[in-house]
Amino acid sequence: MTRRRWIADSWDETSASVKGEQAAHLVRVLRAQTGMECDMVAGDRVWRAVISGVSGDAVQFTLLSEVEAEPALPVTLLLSVFKFDRMEWIIEKATELGAARFIPMTARRSEKHLVQAAQARVERWRRVAREAAKQSRRSDVPVVEDLVPLKTAVRSGAAGLRLLLAEQERSTTLYAAMQVALQQATVEKPAVELAVGPEGGWTADEEALFAVEGWQAVSLGPRILRAETAGITAMAVVAAMLA
Ligand code: SAM
Repeated sequence: MTRRRWIADSWDETSASVKGEQAAHLVRVLRAQTGMECDMVAGDRVWRAVISGVSGDAVQFTLLSEVEAEPALPVTLLLSVFKFDRMEWIIEKATELGAARFIPMTARRSEKHLVQAAQARVERWRRVAREAAKQSRRSDVPVVEDLVPLKTAVRSGAAGLRLLLAEQERSTTLYAAMQVALQQATVEKPAVELAVGPEGGWTADEEALFAVEGWQAVSLGPRILRAETAGITAMAVVAAMLA
């Protein structure tokens, strides 16, 4: 049977503990008891673990042996602010597919009322990423950065392949751009950044800024996709090619 998996709030080489919501769930719903076994994600490592104690608002574990786990893919998604339930979809699904990092950003055509509420959503997005990482049995939790203006996000990425998802691009597909990049890469899994536009799309100024900063416009085909469809599809293509 698949063992339940928890993400440690604190740990050392032999023990770990969880607090807050995870501990409350363990104690109240799963009736945590000393001796119960599980998998424990501690930093970027996964351990077979056993509960060694339950006290107050925390559950303690002894780490028994390390379990092999797949690392994240070196993929960052820049997400223009759009409807929050759909942003959660992207974060959840891209986490399952292996994304390492999300940068929420305010694009010119992001809706104003959403932009105003977006920073307050970041903690929720972090929880979504954490739950999806746990559910998909990842050994790590992707980073969800604080909300930044688009011009900061465009410049802030690690050096790597920078791909702007653009529905009006006709000559280069994401697949073709990835093929070329993989042929030229000096490492097995080169870093990739993907930028997803808001529901209203990019402005001409934004596209020009991306181009100046070395981003390549790529297409996912001739149909206009919703932002969340575009983000998840792009992540799936990249994940399949980096796997
Ligand atoms: N401006 C568009 C319109 O005609 O209404 C809508 C933009 S689309 C809903 C939102 C974002 O999804 C785009 O900015 C782009 O990043 C991405 N996207 C949608 N369809 C795409 C496609 N066929 N190829 C690449 N990216 C696409």
